[in-house]
Amino acid sequence: MKKIAILCSGGDVSGMNAALKRFVEYAFDRGMQPCFVENGYEGLIDNQIHEAGYSDVAGIISIGGTKIHTSRSERFKEEAYRRKALENLRTHGIDGLVILGGDGSFKGMQKLADESGDIGFIGIPSTIDNDIAGTQYCLGVDTALNGIRVSIDAIRDTASSFGRAFVIEVMGRECGYLALVSALTSGAEMCLIPEIPYDLSVYKEDFLQQKKEGRSYFIAVVSEALKNSEEISRWFEEEIEVESRVTVLGHVQRGGIPTVHDRLMAFHFVTTGIDALLGGTKSAVVCYNNGTFVCKPIEKVAFKKYYIDEDLLKLGREFESPQHKQV
Ligand code: ADP
Repeated sequence: MKKIAILCSGGDVSGMNAALKRFVEYAFDRGMQPCFVENGYEGLIDNQIHEAGYSDVAGIISIGGTKIHTSRSERFKEEAYRRKALENLRTHGIDGLVILGGDGSFKGMQKLADESGDIGFIGIPSTIDNDIAGTQYCLGVDTALNGIRVSIDAIRDTASSFGRAFVIEVMGRECGYLALVSALTSGAEMCLIPEIPYDLSVYKEDFLQQKKEGRSYFIAVVSEALKNSEEISRWFEEEIEVESRVTVLGHVQRGGIPTVHDRLMAFHFVTTGIDALLGGTKSAVVCYNNGTFVCKPIEKVAFKKYYIDEDLLKLGREFESPQHKQV
């Protein structure tokens, strides 16, 4: 294997630049020429491919997002454009491609791998939603969680000063992982996610009791999947009789300086991916489970539903247990 390339596809995450740095440095260490594909699958189709050197990755480890840009590509779903993409890889003499993306990107990668035969493809789970089956961790999650934590800590200051409820809407698409971990680690009073059925009447009884005991503000963390932030805010005003505001955190959750954890995870993901390519793997996704990194076939990752760990869900179910009865 002489030349390998890397691209970012779908949503950007913090830690992608650390992955690019490791990719370039480790490729050179293993005697290969690293290449960048700019702009995701769009750039692959349009031949935005160039060789990368050490200077391309100097100073980027501490920057969020991705230096080589990312995209969503409708064209890539058509075989004719994927043929063009494969032609471009062959013209550059590239025999391995690493793709940082989510399950959509891996579905595209699977098609490319099936249509190629000779080139190796490795996916690295990269999404703040942490919703990819087969891996306990996706690149970018820790930075997103820390960013959310900073926001909720700040909101708590104003909530307590004014004696208000704040309903904080957190990203995650259909998955409640980000909302659940954020609610647990920021001391929220309420956590609503699609994976845990909830009963507002139980919360009502508990919150009214807490109000009687002197609580003046509430923090509710709600997953975007439920699409009910405004409704929950009205519930606070009408049922708990506390002034309420909604804060949709939105895209601030995606960016920011990558945490130490994400930088280190990026290094391990990329190292395992490049080793797999060198070992002859033709198509796989690098997964992290219980401290180890292994490559799994795409079918075990991209076409399966992700389930939040049962221990974590158990903690999440405790939000509905009235707190005054616990002490
Ligand atoms: P993510 O990878 O974060 O899940 P998307 O679902 O938006 O993000 O997918 C990223 C890109 O992957 C899409 O814009 C498209 O180019 C490609 N892709 C997704 N699904 C498929 C598919 N079924 N076939 C071919 N390409 C796909």
